[in-house]
Amino acid sequence: MAKIKLATVWLAGCSGCHMSFLDLDEWLLELAKHVDVVYSPVGSDLKDYPENVDVCLVEGAVANEENLELIRKVRERTKLLISFGDCAVTANVPAMRNMLGGTEPVLKRCYLELGDANNQLPNFPGIVPELLDRVCPVHEVVQVDLFMPGCPPSADRIQATVEPLLRGEQPVMEGREMIKFG
Ligand code: SF4
Repeated sequence: MAKIKLATVWLAGCSGCHMSFLDLDEWLLELAKHVDVVYSPVGSDLKDYPENVDVCLVEGAVANEENLELIRKVRERTKLLISFGDCAVTANVPAMRNMLGGTEPVLKRCYLELGDANNQLPNFPGIVPELLDRVCPVHEVVQVDLFMPGCPPSADRIQATVEPLLRGEQPVMEGREMIKFG
């Protein structure tokens, strides 16, 4: 049987969801029998997101132009896209900056009002991606097929979500163990 092409993507998140994925420990060896990791910040050096990905776990909210470009490409090239963790599902912590009302007040607060010395706004076009005016969850930008909340989702929840997919079945995202936030 052909292996499933699995990707994981890191948008605006703290990487805690990916750390929880690594907490799968020995089950990672079992997983490796069934999947090829074709793109991931923790398992692949590929710079460009490949075509024909079967399953992708997306960590983090959409907060800047780079996130936006990547998630659109991911959607185009992926059969099953999973919002992986609370930041992807609700925008969570990265969206706290939305309370300031846009990019300009956020940058002013961080770099002018709270800066210690040589206070100035960053301006590195083409190097530092432009912030979006508002941070949003993944499903506001592209269609999401499955939501896996948690901050981060536990390794048990990740396994219970991914394992049925390996058998061609849909995971049942019900009950406290599978859909509790936080
Ligand atoms: Fe980090 Fe929690 Fe967001 Fe995952 S959901 S990226 S653990 S803040």
